Amino acid sequence: MRLPGMLDGRLREIVRMGHPVLRERAAEVAADRFGTRFLRDLGRDLVRTMHEGGGVGLAAPQIAVPLRVLSYYLPADDATPELPPRVLVNPRLTLFGEPDEPGWEGCLSIPGLRGMVPRHRHLRVEALDVDGKPVAFEAEGYHARVIQHEHDHLDGILFLDRMPTMTDLFFEEEWDRYAGRKDLPVEI
Ligand SMILES: [Zn+2]
Repeated sequence: MRLPGMLDGRLREIVRMGHPVLRERAAEVAADRFGTRFLRDLGRDLVRTMHEGGGVGLAAPQIAVPLRVLSYYLPADDATPELPPRVLVNPRLTLFGEPDEPGWEGCLSIPGLRGMVPRHRHLRVEALDVDGKPVAFEAEGYHARVIQHEHDHLDGILFLDRMPTMTDLFFEEEWDRYAGRKDLPVEI
């Protein structure tokens, strides 16, 4: 963890599938909330709760806050260093190409399950940070997958909704034993 102050948030309860907040469209964060203690704390709480839950992403509706705020980070892999935690507010995605890249996903709000989800390989993000500063970047592959998964939470969509077939839905233990394509990334 390289961002100072990002792990001093409060641990919040993660709500699970069945809680109505996970099926709502979250509201845009209003202009007068940027830079406030409320929004800064929300960002810190998301990052802390994400880490404690062992996930790489967490959206505000998952802690029962129906606002368009998400957090994620990317663990290091062979090719790229860790991407420290980011908090994106009111993100807008431009998706390139088709959602034709398969990969495994799980979700802290749907514990114990893994499913194969096709996603766009490449996207562009425009968002604000908690202080209202614009951020814009492009993401590909696993990075793009994590952002699409978390952004879906802001629209009340869960990864199960994106699965073309339930044949590719596993409990984690069975996934470890039987799932064929371990080469693909797993987003949780
Ligand atoms: Zn999720």
